[in-house]
Amino acid sequence: MNSPQHILEHVFGYTRFRDPQQAVIDTLVAGNDALVLMPTGGGKSLCYQIPALARPGCGVVISPLIALMQDQVEALQEAGIRAAYLNSSVAYDEVQAIESQLLYGELDLLYLAPERLLQPRTLSLLQRVALSVFAIDEAHCVSQWGHDFRADYLQLNCLHEQFPQVPRIALTATADKRTRAEIARRLDLEDARHFVSSFDRPNIQYRIEPKDNQRRQLLQFLQGGQQGNAGIIYCLSRAKVDSTAEWLNQQGFTALPYHAGLPADTRAEHQRRFLREDEVIVVATIAFGMGIDKPDVRFVVHLDLPKSVEAYYQETGRAGRDGEASVALLLYGLEDVVKIGQMVESSEGSEEHKRLERGRLNAMLGLCEITSCRRQALLDYFAEPLDKPCGNCDTCLEVPATWDASEAAVKLLSCVYRTGQRFGASHVIDVLRGSENEKVRKFSHDQLSTHGIGKEFSTTEWRAIVRQLIVRGYLEVEGEFQGLRLTEVCRPLLRREVSLNLRKLPAKTPRSQNRDTG
Ligand code: ADP
Ligand code: ZN
Repeated sequence: MNSPQHILEHVFGYTRFRDPQQAVIDTLVAGNDALVLMPTGGGKSLCYQIPALARPGCGVVISPLIALMQDQVEALQEAGIRAAYLNSSVAYDEVQAIESQLLYGELDLLYLAPERLLQPRTLSLLQRVALSVFAIDEAHCVSQWGHDFRADYLQLNCLHEQFPQVPRIALTATADKRTRAEIARRLDLEDARHFVSSFDRPNIQYRIEPKDNQRRQLLQFLQGGQQGNAGIIYCLSRAKVDSTAEWLNQQGFTALPYHAGLPADTRAEHQRRFLREDEVIVVATIAFGMGIDKPDVRFVVHLDLPKSVEAYYQETGRAGRDGEASVALLLYGLEDVVKIGQMVESSEGSEEHKRLERGRLNAMLGLCEITSCRRQALLDYFAEPLDKPCGNCDTCLEVPATWDASEAAVKLLSCVYRTGQRFGASHVIDVLRGSENEKVRKFSHDQLSTHGIGKEFSTTEWRAIVRQLIVRGYLEVEGEFQGLRLTEVCRPLLRREVSLNLRKLPAKTPRSQNRDTG
């Protein structure tokens, strides 16, 4: 039997373990259970792949992501490992071939979707062979609090009862304290050794800016020190991916689009060029990145707001895996909030699900609007306190200016109230700025006392104020039309008992450039 170090070098071609891989592997090789919490890209796979090879028998990996399963198995096979997967996409005769390999001890690793594992047929098959380890990937799927909840995962505690002699490892990249405790309890891993890695990525500089003119902001960013670097630019829609990539090419960059609407061979080709060439920028929807491992990605830009802090962390985490200085830039605007809000409202999910999604979106927006250290806020979200400001995010590098916005906020809140608490931001701002447009006249909003009381601010400035009032809980956004509503928090402000400081508004832009304002 080979030692973990030998396998690391000769099978995987790496020289040393990353922390805490060695300790995790030793735990399993000794026959004990482990619970591993490590950010995406941290190197979770080796934690079970190596024990599977170091111990006699086949390792069983339970994963909910069919696409990733296939990628992993192909990569393992290329490294000479006898790996296979069983899921609904595998044809029957192939299933039989894999099962007989398993019975004859010819498999090192078998990947299974949870529902497949739990079939009595699969369980009895596994009873008949030697098993080295059970790895439960994406273990947060057992948590009913999370957005990835899978009922099948709840039944995985049967492994403990049916295969008491096989060590188990549960892995996840998303787990606050509560979720972690829930995983341990539901999977019977309370006695397992817990390995909790830091989520901090100190070499990534976080920058979050309100959208003003996003193409100009992007160009400024790229020309300000990112020339010749590899990077990823995320957009929400396929159309925006295509137009942004085309525009970047006109600006002299090598930019390749990537989204699910492109033919598979085009996607594969763009992915390949990104991995092999030095100066390629991939413009992508979030479809891009799962399973991509390029260590020297120097920047990740978001041209639209990610829908949760987890998503933001995961996507920005694709920068700087080599440990070198990298930048994560996010440009966001009120229209992103409205767009994602509408997506949530029109989605299939239950009311409870929508409520959770709204909460996530608000937490993301909160991260955008804070005036304190971004990294502290981000790590705080993952229940990992950082005791002092990081010194490597935009708010640390340049303390954001604030202003007393009480007067403006009262005007806005009053206008929301007078218009009946059902109109979206654009209309309320039109009324504030004294617009006489059709909609304003139709609802006689030009007759209101709040009509035209906010001419001192531009639409862009009002939108920034609305955003911040949403984040701070003064305003709620509701329903299909994303109408604004006051909350309880408003009372003391409306009674002028407290004042309100907000992040300074973005600099004024000339009207001609005002098209994609946020
Ligand atoms: P995770 O599952 O935690 O997101 P992976 O297991 O996919 O992370 O690992 C991320 C990348 O890091 C992979 O390309 C993997 O090969 C690489 N990697 C993992 N461990 C090591 C190591 N000890 N030395 C070098 N590269 C490693
Ligand atoms: Zn900071």
